[in-house]
Amino acid sequence: MHLNSNLPKKILSWYDNNKRNLPWRVSKKSPKKLYYRLLSEFMLQQTQVKTVIPYFNKFTEKFKTLEILSKRKEKEILKLWEGLGYYRRARNLLASAKLLVQEYNSKLPKEINEIKKLPGVGDYTANALLGLVHNRPTIAVDGNVKRVFTRILNKRESKINFEKLIELNKNKLFSTKRNSDFVEALMEFGALICKPKDPKCNICNLNKNCKYFNSSKKIKFFEKKVLKNKDYDIFCYINKKKQIALTKKNNVGFLNEFHLPEIKETNIELRKKNWKFLSNYKNSISNIKLNINLYYKFSNKIPLNFNWYSIEKNKVLIPSFTKKIFKQVSILF
Ligand code: SF4
Repeated sequence: MHLNSNLPKKILSWYDNNKRNLPWRVSKKSPKKLYYRLLSEFMLQQTQVKTVIPYFNKFTEKFKTLEILSKRKEKEILKLWEGLGYYRRARNLLASAKLLVQEYNSKLPKEINEIKKLPGVGDYTANALLGLVHNRPTIAVDGNVKRVFTRILNKRESKINFEKLIELNKNKLFSTKRNSDFVEALMEFGALICKPKDPKCNICNLNKNCKYFNSSKKIKFFEKKVLKNKDYDIFCYINKKKQIALTKKNNVGFLNEFHLPEIKETNIELRKKNWKFLSNYKNSISNIKLNINLYYKFSNKIPLNFNWYSIEKNKVLIPSFTKKIFKQVSILF
């Protein structure tokens, strides 16, 4: 599992000439470096760069520094995060900002185990921050980076111990001392050149030493997300004031903490009476594809734990999953 000693230089030289102009890439001496990196790393978890950019700009426009962000209310952060999904990240961002400001004097700790104490920061994000903010010799191993290494070695991902691979090659990988650039360059290279489908091997400056490119027996990638199909019934109490009753107490794990009407896995035998069928539609959340039957009832009485919300205007965070329900229900008025 030996890597070519020119690999970092080649990837960095490609990066220097081709890197995207992204708003969180500020100069190494910028006082905003930690804040911008922390914010972008949280936002980029499971979300594409082009989706993140407008949110990143909105956040940094409204909360100019880590200190300002750390003093805001969770409600305000969640409202600005609306539409980006995976709201736990927003809560963790705020909790991490508070901890950094209050306990670490707005500095990133220098030890990985200390960084991992920040809420929502696991191995990958901790390594990314350590490299990006402190220029430490480390690599944040995400899907892009794994793909680059698996291709260069032409070995299946399950056959590579990435930690060992990095340890074994550390003298070569960190020889340039441009560690923070290298963390990013590798990810960028994986995203733009060594792409999941159709890698751009012909213009890749690593192709001479790439076993995937030079082999007649190329490893195969199984990147397709397997979506699980599930049927759900959603029951909406609505009233003549164009309001809908929502609760955060549904027992559907992946929708916890969402404002929702009552939602249940479809059970034909237990289907409720006195509810009118409104529509059937599909919605996906992470790797679950939901087939939804929507029912409604006009009523002034609602169960405990439910509150009325306007279908048209709300001050609270209404996730896009629930907004889709609003859209369906609004045709009744
Ligand atoms: S030659 Fe192709 S497969 Fe090899 S690193 Fe470059 S883009 Fe990836």
